[in-house]
Amino acid sequence: MRFVHDGQSPRVVFGAGSVKELPSEIDRLGVSRALIVATPGRGELVGRIESLIGHRAGGKFLGAQVHVPADVATEAESLAKRVRADSIISVGGGSAIGAAKAVALDTTFPIIAIATTYSGSEMTPIWGLSNHSGKRTGRDSRVMPRVVIYDPELTLDLPVAVSVASGFNALAHCMESLYASNATPLTSMTAVLGFEIVPSALRRIVADPRSTDAREDALYGAMLAGQALAATQMGIHHKVCHVLAGSFGLPHAEAHAVLLPHSAAFNRDAAPAEMDVIAASIGADDAPGGLFDLGVELGAPRSLAVLGMREADLDRAAELVVERPYPNPRTVTREGVRAMLENAFRGERP
Ligand code: NAD
Repeated sequence: MRFVHDGQSPRVVFGAGSVKELPSEIDRLGVSRALIVATPGRGELVGRIESLIGHRAGGKFLGAQVHVPADVATEAESLAKRVRADSIISVGGGSAIGAAKAVALDTTFPIIAIATTYSGSEMTPIWGLSNHSGKRTGRDSRVMPRVVIYDPELTLDLPVAVSVASGFNALAHCMESLYASNATPLTSMTAVLGFEIVPSALRRIVADPRSTDAREDALYGAMLAGQALAATQMGIHHKVCHVLAGSFGLPHAEAHAVLLPHSAAFNRDAAPAEMDVIAASIGADDAPGGLFDLGVELGAPRSLAVLGMREADLDRAAELVVERPYPNPRTVTREGVRAMLENAFRGERP
């Protein structure tokens, strides 16, 4: 066995009620004036965080948006400088964390991420920025959160549809991490555990969205998925999602949910052992079909058409994917990607 495991990890504070540790976590980092960053709908939660941390709150930015538009990043950074912040607290999912990472990339301010979706972004050094010509991503240790707080009690109101789609985002990290050429025993163990935990957590959330236990498991699975993603390369699945969301405006987590069975089918013959592991951990005979059935059972969106993709744009999307593909077990050709997009567009079981 030969491998190089290059994994960074933030400090993780996990458990119901753990948000109460935030003031001491700020003090522990040696910072004293945080900019709180969130998406527009999270004002009430941000208010609670402000009260909790008192004088340590330097200001708040409630303008985070999915895929971090460059002007939003500039606005957040200007505010951070104006209020003389020395740190950032993101409250929410990947959009809030993405805005915090964009500020940290320039300022090197430490990030404390209070994660309330299952995007896993809080565990990774991956940043993203978008503008009119699409989405760019990169890796930089400056954007890796220093502390992550997972408190399931803050996630009880995350809508079921958002939870399910976001859960598929976590499963996507696990899948691509398993067949990445730089996978290691540590990342694979983490990814398999993610596959075992997330589907059951999502089933229980659909049945009872306010179950703290189910929410706790979903956050735990998301943490594992993010950890696996952090130390491995992304493949065809993430590339296609980045193109669909960055260049065609499709909703991020929902695009993951629609595409996952189809990207699994794309790689089925090139990564047979990993597909067997996935099938076994979700209790299915076959990974692509099993992931599709899981989506149907949980009420996830099934087709790109439903997400607003236009059939006329499928050719262009395939071209964008092959222009700069991510490393992938199966060779990425225009024809192969076009066929995969066609299947995902129609939402047929692979
Ligand atoms: P999001 O952050 O946009 O959140 C989805 C919705 O859920 C928003 O409306 C938000 O306000 C709401 N929400 C969040 N927390 C809530 C709560 N506790 N209660 C009720 N509503 C709540 O969506 P997301 O899928 O988490 O993140 C998407 C972004 O993250 C994309 O830009 C994607 O590219 C990025 N991402 C990055 C990485 C990475 O490693 N860099 C990984 C995954 C995703």
